[in-house]
Amino acid sequence: MTELLKVEHLTTWLATREGVLNAVDDVSFSVHAGRTMALVGESGSGKSMTCLSIMGLLPENGKSGGGRVLFEGEDLLAKNEHEMQQIRGVNIGMILQDPMTALNPLFTIGNQVGEAFYRERLSRAERQTRCIEVLREVGIPAPEERLSAYPHQFSGGMRQRVAIAMNIASRPKLLIADEPTTALDVTVQLQILELLRKIQRQLGMGMILVTHDLHVVSQFCDDVAIMYAGRIVEAGPVDKVFKAPSHPYTKGLLAAVPTIDATVHRLPLVKGNPPSMLQMPDGCRFAPRCDMATDQCRAEYPAWLHFDEDRRVACWRAGEEE
Ligand code: ADP
Ligand code: MG
Repeated sequence: MTELLKVEHLTTWLATREGVLNAVDDVSFSVHAGRTMALVGESGSGKSMTCLSIMGLLPENGKSGGGRVLFEGEDLLAKNEHEMQQIRGVNIGMILQDPMTALNPLFTIGNQVGEAFYRERLSRAERQTRCIEVLREVGIPAPEERLSAYPHQFSGGMRQRVAIAMNIASRPKLLIADEPTTALDVTVQLQILELLRKIQRQLGMGMILVTHDLHVVSQFCDDVAIMYAGRIVEAGPVDKVFKAPSHPYTKGLLAAVPTIDATVHRLPLVKGNPPSMLQMPDGCRFAPRCDMATDQCRAEYPAWLHFDEDRRVACWRAGEEE
């Protein structure tokens, strides 16, 4: 497996009126070529900030204060904005929840998708042909007739297809999709996810798919990293993690969707709320919600327990009999 992206100890801070919050804390994971990694967690757990840190697209009040983001061995955190512009949109694509943020309402679809080819110095006709090809790849019907249309003339699902076209046109090695279907209705969601999965496999891309939907993880992803309050608490291949979740938080999440795997014990839903990122508990961040928490859990953040070669969990009680 080719390791495309290796995130090591990524830590990101955001300045707010209430204080500085630690949105991403000591996050490490790898994304392999030809595989899709799900980044899963409740709203506010730091998934988007993780993606934006990787892309060098943090809001102005944000700063990555530690760690490395190695893309094909080069640390993206050490690159300047000009260098990052060469990488974004060429080697790394990013698709967001609302396709309108990627599309400019004032320009035609042909114009915007065509921009992906500007580095190649194509003639107008060649550019048009390439646009039509890539729009066809993402399933836009009669693409040759849609080049002169504007974003508002497309449905939400079709706009997301255009955004995908713009992001895969340059054949990136890595695609980051941050809740790409949350704004769409259910049947369209599935179509878009199937499309992303198909393209990911065809192009052999590595993909990070951010979602809070565990069905999506089980259907469309190879690996999973579970995030809680800015940290990853458990990670590994989807089939193994879903079959035998190790962290109490993962167990709780999976128990809330028992149809995924009947062997998962039914536990009460994860009760309570995540801690404020402005005031993190000293020990395990999940301890206040965890039935298994001990004094050690409340005092000290759990060290990683690696097991099964490709699996890890951050829990002092992992592996104990319940
Ligand atoms: P997720 O994508 O998992 O829902 P985010 O990464 O967007 O979560 O947010 C992580 C934390 O950062 C949350 O506590 C959120 O309130 C905070 N946050 C998000 N965007 C900003 C911002 N622009 N400024 C300050 N805090 C932010
Ligand atoms: Mg988000």
